[in-house]
Amino acid sequence: LGSLVFVGTGLQLAAHIGALSKSHIEHADIVFSLVPDVFCEQWLVGLNPKHASLQPYYAQEGEVKSRRDTYAQMVEAILQQVRQGLDVVVALYGHPGIFACVSHLAIKQAKVEGFEAQMLPGVSAEACLWADLGIDPGQAGHQSYEATQFMLYNHQINPYTHVLLWQIALAGEHSLTQFATTKDRLQILVEHLNQWYPLDHQVVIYEAPNLPLMSPRIDWLALKDLPDADLTMISTLMIPPVGKLKLNQQMLAKLGISESDLG
Ligand code: SAH
Repeated sequence: LGSLVFVGTGLQLAAHIGALSKSHIEHADIVFSLVPDVFCEQWLVGLNPKHASLQPYYAQEGEVKSRRDTYAQMVEAILQQVRQGLDVVVALYGHPGIFACVSHLAIKQAKVEGFEAQMLPGVSAEACLWADLGIDPGQAGHQSYEATQFMLYNHQINPYTHVLLWQIALAGEHSLTQFATTKDRLQILVEHLNQWYPLDHQVVIYEAPNLPLMSPRIDWLALKDLPDADLTMISTLMIPPVGKLKLNQQMLAKLGISESDLG
C-alpha cells in the first residue's frame, strides 16, 4: 500500500533538515520537491535520485494560470503515485504545513482514500526571522497573516505585539495569477495599517538566506515607504510593536492584584 510523508527542508540548503525527514527522503520510492533553487534540488537528487520537481505546475512564461489550479494539479500528481502503491515523500522548503496548502490538501485526500499520510515539521521562514532579528515572539505575543488575506478580511491588529505579513510582494493580488502586486495596492495596505501605526513607524523587510555564508536581508524602512520597497517572493514584512503592552486593568481588579505586584 502506498504512503505519503511531507517533510520540510528548512530555508538553508542542506543545513536545516531534520534527521527523520532526511531518512524519509533517502528511503522514498519517489521524492517530489518544491525548493528555493536548483542547488537544493541537486542536493535532494543526491539523497535520492528518484526525484520530480513540482515547479513545472506553476504558470510558465507567458501562461496565465491560477495558483488554485497549480495546487490542485500538484495534489493530483502526488496522489497518483501514492495510488500506484509507492512510498511518496514530498519535500517543501521551510515548514511543509505553514502558509502552504498543498501538504494539507494532499494529506487529507490520501487519508480519505485510506492511505497512511503524515507531515513532519521543518524550520520555517518565521523560525529564521526570530533568530536573525533577535526577537522572542513570546515576549509580547505575535500575529501572523498572509498579506492579501489580511487586506481582504476583517483581521484586527494588536499593535503592541509583533506582526508578520507573509507574501508581502503579493499584497492585494487576489486573482492568484500574478507573481507581483502594484504600488497602488501596497499604498492601500499602508493606509489600512495606518489605523494602528503612524506612517513613519519603522518596519522590516526580512529575507532568510537559502545558501550558507549568505547574510539575511534585514531592511528597515518607514511604513509609508513600503510601496517603493524592493519586494520579492521571499520577502516577509515584520512590524514591531508601537509601544509597551498595556495592562488589562479590569482583569487586574478581578484578580485582586495591582501593577506593583507584577515583576
Ligand atoms: N512554508 C514556508 C512558507 C511558504 S509561503 C515556510 O515555512 O517558510 C511563502 C512566503 O514565506 C513568502 O512570501 C515569504 O513571506 C515567506 N518566505 C519564504 N522564504 C523566505 C525567506 N527566505 N525569507 C523570509 N521569508 C520567506
